[in-house]
Amino acid sequence: MLNPLIQAFLILQDRDIKRTGLEAQLKAVPGDVARVEQRIAAEKAAIDGAKAELRELETRKKLLETEIGSAEEKMGRYKTQQLSVRKNDEYQALGHEIATTQAQIGELEGKELEIMYLIDEARKKFAAAEAELKTNISGHEARIKMLRERETSLGAELKGVQDQVAAARVPIEAMRLRVYDRIAVRSMPAVVSLHGDKCGGCHLKVSSEVVSAARGKTIDPLAALPTCDQCGRIVYWDN
Ligand SMILES: [Zn+2]
Repeated sequence: MLNPLIQAFLILQDRDIKRTGLEAQLKAVPGDVARVEQRIAAEKAAIDGAKAELRELETRKKLLETEIGSAEEKMGRYKTQQLSVRKNDEYQALGHEIATTQAQIGELEGKELEIMYLIDEARKKFAAAEAELKTNISGHEARIKMLRERETSLGAELKGVQDQVAAARVPIEAMRLRVYDRIAVRSMPAVVSLHGDKCGGCHLKVSSEVVSAARGKTIDPLAALPTCDQCGRIVYWDN
């Protein structure tokens, strides 16, 4: 039979471990939600980025078309002028201008083709980004909903365990609780059994005084609890 005080401590410790476990799970939820929200934001940003790229390329294409249009007009004027000139050198000068403008138009048209290819690629990228979000968004939203529900149920469970912890503390004297709390904040479990003369927490050897105090049938209500000489945990004898 375990000493009733040790039994009371073991019940409290069990509930405290459950409580800290729930607290840790609950604490992780906002981070998990934030990660899903970041994924959604990243997927939306990819769509916006692709859309901006597409718009920019379309603007460049329009500018090129305008440039091509004015070069063609210029060439048309040269050709008309060429019909009315009499002098050979003027005719040749205009011929040269026409050739230069023709080359410019060719170059601009080459650029336009390149941009049209880039526009095609940007459209594909935009469609892919949109499809990705469309495919994933319901999964993302379901995950956030699940996390929120989990947060609620963990919160309710924690409330229950907190009440259980409070109830488990009632039968233990304040002086004893202080000892336990001091150990519990740094090393859980705070109450461990001895394995022979070794502490069940740190596995180091304890003194024979501690062993005999732990093996005592009753715990003196005024005496200090037997604790491990090495790690300070409350130790008890369990056979
Ligand atoms: Zn120890």
